[in-house]
Amino acid sequence: MLIRFTDKGFYCEQGDFYIDPWKPVHRAVITHAHSDHARPGNAHYLAHRISAPVLRLRLGRDISLETLEYGEVLHMNGVELSLHPAGHIPGSAQVRVAFGKEVWVISGDYKLENDGLSTPFEPIPCTHFVSECTFGLPLFRWKPQELVFADMLAWVDGLRQEGKNAFIHAYSLGKAQRLIHALHQAGANIRVHGAVHNTNLALREAGLPIPDVLPVSAGQPIEPGSVIIAPGSAAETSWTKRFEPYAEASASGWMAMRGTRRWMNAERGFPLSDHADWDSLLQAIQLSGASQVFVTHGYTELFCRYLREHLQLDAHVVSTRFTGETANHSEEAPEE
Ligand SMILES: [Zn+2]
Repeated sequence: MLIRFTDKGFYCEQGDFYIDPWKPVHRAVITHAHSDHARPGNAHYLAHRISAPVLRLRLGRDISLETLEYGEVLHMNGVELSLHPAGHIPGSAQVRVAFGKEVWVISGDYKLENDGLSTPFEPIPCTHFVSECTFGLPLFRWKPQELVFADMLAWVDGLRQEGKNAFIHAYSLGKAQRLIHALHQAGANIRVHGAVHNTNLALREAGLPIPDVLPVSAGQPIEPGSVIIAPGSAAETSWTKRFEPYAEASASGWMAMRGTRRWMNAERGFPLSDHADWDSLLQAIQLSGASQVFVTHGYTELFCRYLREHLQLDAHVVSTRFTGETANHSEEAPEE
């Protein structure tokens, strides 16, 4: 097998590199800059060009980092290595590894809906496809983002008329910029947490058209009726007092699950995800044309059984021993 599952992560022995390793290695190919895929301590990193400033922000200015454009091919001891758009967050990539008759695609995290900021997902034909399945249950079926944003804007507008701010929890990389992009276009007055602000600066350095929104700490008072975007961890601190009166919401795929909103203590939940939903996972797997499918992250056992029994696919679960995945079904590892 061209790719082996090891206790440091996915390893290509022929090319001598790891993909999203979760223990330090000499050569790491990184699908995207989320903290559960891009870990510190590797001797050398390879990632898409757009990921570079965020990787340096998160892992240190001095990391040894080589970048590729989408579709650019690197030859390593006879192995073809290339990155292809995953549509998950800006700079996210599927990794294609080809040698002899085997073509592997390790998708990392992905989604099929075009969010307007990330380069849209491209299906890459392969013999072996490694797919995440964070939302690999039929109950996860996303509404088109336009409808979710219309609901969000109506909620923000209602609050503004009451003189209240809208405080929205979102991951600082990916989800936050997706919200800023949509709400800024609609004329919302947006302020962001420092972690979101720093990520915005890094993405702008990478050439992305992220609107220039002020961090909360910028000094200017928060105008009533503002939208504050911050990672969920900030919502549990006294940092939020300055926004009163406000109402809280969470923007996450988990909001599609009954009861999650109350459990996460948010008044409103907007089911908006940067991961593929049930239908998109099945679509991506079928588009790959792979004869063997490996599933990671999330509802692996149930999802794998469905692929075997209903789609007659030669599907396998990659044990969490090889992915470093934690037991809770977190959409991403906690950030900041
Ligand atoms: Zn991710």
